[in-house]
Amino acid sequence: MPSPYTVETAKRDLWVYGRKIAERLLIVGPGGNTSARADTALVVKASGCAFEDCTEDDYIPIDPKTGEVIGSTKKPTCEVYMHIACFLKRPDANAVVHTHAPIATALAMTGQSLPPIYPDLIALVGADIPVLPYIIPAGKQLAEAVAKVIGDHNAVLLSNHGLLTVGANVREAYFRNLIVEEACKTWLAARAFGKPYVLTPEEVHAVYHLEAEDYRRALLRGDIA
Ligand SMILES: [Zn+2]
Repeated sequence: MPSPYTVETAKRDLWVYGRKIAERLLIVGPGGNTSARADTALVVKASGCAFEDCTEDDYIPIDPKTGEVIGSTKKPTCEVYMHIACFLKRPDANAVVHTHAPIATALAMTGQSLPPIYPDLIALVGADIPVLPYIIPAGKQLAEAVAKVIGDHNAVLLSNHGLLTVGANVREAYFRNLIVEEACKTWLAARAFGKPYVLTPEEVHAVYHLEAEDYRRALLRGDIA
């Protein structure tokens, strides 16, 4: 899928959704990072900048192959290899959102994943969300572990660390992050209430084939104005 972004529009979208990531407390402080694939470069968040403080210039272009910064004195996020790995494995994805979403992170710390608990989650993210064991952040080891699973999944839980989602654009990757975090909250509440019902493989299959969900997926990607 060709990227919808130029470097300038990628910077703008990353800034807009970076503010929302901070507002929705998907991350607190200077952690987390986002990126987008533009026509001539990848655009990634600069290192150490809190989402609420970032300006558009804190989203910097890098060479998609080497990770080298183009035209900025700022350093890219230390998790840049993880972003490059996602774009290599997912030619259909033009954005990556990585947060330290608290409830999703807490669930991942138990080694458990989020079951298919409701249609929104299944249709907009997927029924299967892998959980990676704890791996020290920022290195190639984490990038390689994410690369192994991101090819077939739109979201990955990182134990004792956070959550990563991909999307056709920044908006879709952002909503996927938010949906997983909200679903984790619902799952936590349901477990506190009692023994929750989880959708069966047949019910999951039926959701994937709902026409209404096709329409909503297209809307989220911006395929329909
Ligand atoms: Zn992180």
